[in-house]
Amino acid sequence: MNPLTSGPFYQNTMKIVEDAGRLINLNPNALERLRFPRRAIVVNVPVKMDDGRLKIFTGYRVQHNQMLGPFKGGIRYHQNVDLSEVAALAALMTFKNSLLGLPLGGGKGGVQVDPTLLSRNELEELTRRFTAEISPFIGPDKDIPAPDVGTDSQTMAWMLDTYSTDTGYSQTGVVTGKPIEIGGSLGRDSATGLGVVYVIEKAVQIINLKMTEARIAIQGFGKVGMHAAIEAYALGARVVAVSDISGGIYNEKGLNIPDLVRYVKENKVVKDFPGTQHISNSEILELPVDVLAPCALEGVITEKNAHEIKAKIIVEGANGPTTRPADEILHKNGVIVCPDILANGGGVVVSYFEWVQDIVWLFWTEEEVRNKLREIMYKAFDKVYAFSQKSEVNMRTAAMGSSLERLQRAMMLRGSAW
Ligand code: NAD
Repeated sequence: MNPLTSGPFYQNTMKIVEDAGRLINLNPNALERLRFPRRAIVVNVPVKMDDGRLKIFTGYRVQHNQMLGPFKGGIRYHQNVDLSEVAALAALMTFKNSLLGLPLGGGKGGVQVDPTLLSRNELEELTRRFTAEISPFIGPDKDIPAPDVGTDSQTMAWMLDTYSTDTGYSQTGVVTGKPIEIGGSLGRDSATGLGVVYVIEKAVQIINLKMTEARIAIQGFGKVGMHAAIEAYALGARVVAVSDISGGIYNEKGLNIPDLVRYVKENKVVKDFPGTQHISNSEILELPVDVLAPCALEGVITEKNAHEIKAKIIVEGANGPTTRPADEILHKNGVIVCPDILANGGGVVVSYFEWVQDIVWLFWTEEEVRNKLREIMYKAFDKVYAFSQKSEVNMRTAAMGSSLERLQRAMMLRGSAW
């Protein structure tokens, strides 16, 4: 059994590749190559804890494919991280970057740790040692990490500093999602959430709904979910429910998102936000809304709850939130699912912008970043929607088909040394 490819999330992803591959007559050799990640690095990272004990944390970096450019993808800190999950997320990055037309391949990393249980010092030591261990395999032209669940711009600052110390000079392009002061891009923090909202804007048009009429529920109130809520609210949509690890809050009239953001800054979680009804993280998925945006973790919409989903549109801010059997149920029920490789692409698009700005040392305004991001997201949505209409398939198969067409062309041009 191959520990990289045997997990359900990886298998699920490859089934989508096979379906879409049949549709575009994907070359069998290209399919075989894409089935397996190019390389995986497993490291055991020692951290001296504040109480003097030594603790080992296992970390991974999986490099899936680099046909289109350097490997690119986030670093996740979560207690459930394992090799196969990281491999699946790395593969999704390959397909996402291809779909979005970026000159980047796919990679992903993670450490099996609950970051909320570590002090700031312990987190810094973990990050620096993890970076040192994977340092021979990353770099601005090789593999460029970014934040994901449980990591943020501070994590990236530590990674950048450690890598630069190792190589002997400052190399800001080794990571994206870093603070503005050290080469970050304006608009990176909100990019994934903003991209989710650009996709919602396009998707509601299909069902003849205006943004100002749309009722939206968002699971997850972190980097993706919070910014999606802020942007949707700013466009006049009614965000009726959000949730985080503490559970969900609901008000059918809509939540005041700027007030909620201030509340979460003080209280850390959305729980008990005044004027709302408490709901669970499963209830939020089944609310009577127009748009559901799962923006937390994978595997939350399954065959068990797919029948209960009332949203007409699902926009996958998270990676892999819908299992394959659930997808089939949703399709039969006429729910439009805007898949992860399209819907949460905003983050990597602005990561790409950041990487480009670091190469030329010329920085863009936030408005420039937003305009360029909007253009790419709208274009990707239109491409996927047109493919789905032409081939009469759901948006997930269409997104993958569109992505594979570009990857296949690159693989054929480069020849057999994949
Ligand atoms: P984050 O750590 O900033 O936020 C995660 C949110 O999910 C938090 O609000 C947390 O409380 C909540 N959460 C955690 N466990 C939960 C559970 N069991 N039930 C409900 N909520 C739970 O992470 P993020 O960066 O916002 O990433 C969220 C998802 O989006 C992930 O799937 C990630 O891979 C994907 N994604 C992130 C980016 C990015 O730029 N950050 C880009 C593309 C995709």
